[in-house]
Amino acid sequence: MLELRPNCECCDRNLPPESRQAMICTFECTFCADCADTVLGGVCPNCGGDFVRRPIRPAALLAKYPASTKRVLKAEGCAPVRAA
Ligand SMILES: [Zn+2]
Ligand SMILES: [Zn+2]
Repeated sequence: MLELRPNCECCDRNLPPESRQAMICTFECTFCADCADTVLGGVCPNCGGDFVRRPIRPAALLAKYPASTKRVLKAEGCAPVRAA
């Protein structure tokens, strides 16, 4: 099950479960659409994978399967993956 992390790892913007701005990679690194597009160029800085829009969990199911409240933030800030 998706964690539905509460914020963008890059800019710490809030990304509530109903947000359509939340983008995730296969490991659920979570970013806002702005950072994913403009800062990261569609490539996850943690794993090098691509992003998809995070699906919206129906509100009725959030009560039973609540979203994560653990904020994850890249301490070193966000930068695109560099070609070696
Ligand atoms: Zn962001
Ligand atoms: Zn990733």
